[in-house]
Amino acid sequence: MNKNDSLSNPIQHQVYLTLPDDLYSDVAPVRVEQPSLLALNHELLTQYGLASSWFESADGINFLAGNCDYAEQHPIAMGYAGHQFGHYSPQLGDGRAHMLGQFQTQDAHYIDVQLKGSGRTPYSRGGDGRATRGAVIREYLISEAMAGLGIPTTRTLAMISTGDKVMRDYQMVPGAIQVRTATSHIRVGSFQYAYAKLGESGVKALADHLIAHHYPHVADREDKYAALYEAICVRQATLVAQWMLVGFIHGVMNTDNMSLVGETIDFGPCAFMDEFKANKVFSSIDREGRYAWDQQANIGYWNLQRLAETFLPLFDSDSDTAVEMAQAPLTRYISTFQQAFEQGLKQKLGVTASTPEADDFINEALPMVATESMDFTHFFDALTRIAQGEDEEEALLSKFSNREKGRQWLANWHAVRNDSKETIEEMRLANPTLIARNHQVEQAIEDAMERDDLTLFHRLSEALKTPYTVSDDNRDLQAAPTPNERVLRTFCGT
Ligand code: AMP
Ligand code: MG
Repeated sequence: MNKNDSLSNPIQHQVYLTLPDDLYSDVAPVRVEQPSLLALNHELLTQYGLASSWFESADGINFLAGNCDYAEQHPIAMGYAGHQFGHYSPQLGDGRAHMLGQFQTQDAHYIDVQLKGSGRTPYSRGGDGRATRGAVIREYLISEAMAGLGIPTTRTLAMISTGDKVMRDYQMVPGAIQVRTATSHIRVGSFQYAYAKLGESGVKALADHLIAHHYPHVADREDKYAALYEAICVRQATLVAQWMLVGFIHGVMNTDNMSLVGETIDFGPCAFMDEFKANKVFSSIDREGRYAWDQQANIGYWNLQRLAETFLPLFDSDSDTAVEMAQAPLTRYISTFQQAFEQGLKQKLGVTASTPEADDFINEALPMVATESMDFTHFFDALTRIAQGEDEEEALLSKFSNREKGRQWLANWHAVRNDSKETIEEMRLANPTLIARNHQVEQAIEDAMERDDLTLFHRLSEALKTPYTVSDDNRDLQAAPTPNERVLRTFCGT
């Protein structure tokens, strides 16, 4: 029955119940004091074919906040393990999240609806199970920015104020719940957990679930598990290339924060770079630069190796043969990443030729942007506008440390670039003019936490939906941070 457009709960499924019950725990969200709806993502609801009426009703808000008896629901928290900064933790899991279930879209896909910040679960360890309004705003804005950029990501359907305060850094701050949607919440860490708890049968159950729901094209293949693993590798390679091409640093690419459907998940101390530097790190906890911008492809590979270790028994009963079978998908990961990244960089620069001159130019472009300490987004936006015929060259030249060097670089660019209409259109689609800038995200958080003012949050969440164009009202959002505004460190902010 499709209840999607009526004033009733559209979340009618719980697909994870077919998995072995060691992999999750039955647990409902915890009641909160005074729930209210701080933001509802109408555009996303429309995309899913859902009416907003139920989500705006008192029943809907109470349901999303943890204040109902869930008699017809079967909420769960999912177990997972994970390598955090290279160290294995056998028992992580949804410590502050509840999977309420799924609704079905008109094209019959299931969409997970998960609450984050909805109370303690059996996986909470010492945590309080709650989230701050700031952490939810952060994930809301950055996940929606990703979606605007066309990069696969979990989404944020709503932000609920709990009315309760939570303790962070010796202060009481407003609590919130994020209503997160995703095509799946299965992670590399889910496989690690299944392997440790149940061995081959647990891994097979998860793999069969992924094939049935997300990779049906491999279902009839004799080597379906190796084919599944390869398809996962390809999606991850493409995702990491897309991140890097917009200057995004995930920040905590632990195996528990890597989705197996190729969506960006778990936005902690992530950031879009302002000034370009290849080894840039923002996260306050990443002291060794493990998850720096230019390390992300390597880390994706490392995580996929950890995934392969759990898959091996499904590949072949002979362990040497199984190890060999993991190699081709991993090699494909590297080639897919390289191709996607190189192709994307050419698109950003509007170059289509494959001559030695063009190749040299491409290879030297990012080192030049780094040497000149250019703002990554502004630089590519300016090039795009020059290609579109705008009078921007002078402004761009003024950003070079040495105008003559800038003139030479632009002359080289004009010599190799393709000035066809199609190439320039492609260039625009590779070069956003708006990104979720750290200083603006931090400002939106500060306004909301300290002054209860969500104006900037709402402005950003609207503007970031269309990052390739900017309205006159939003030109200030294009600005790079002033030296005072520059954010040097980002925090998990749980
Ligand atoms: P994250 O850093 O959000 O990827 O979380 C890592 C692990 O810590 C996951 O198992 C989370 O569920 C758990 N965790 C994070 N914050 C909290 C919290 N406030 N209460 C309980 N568990 C948490
Ligand atoms: Mg996580």
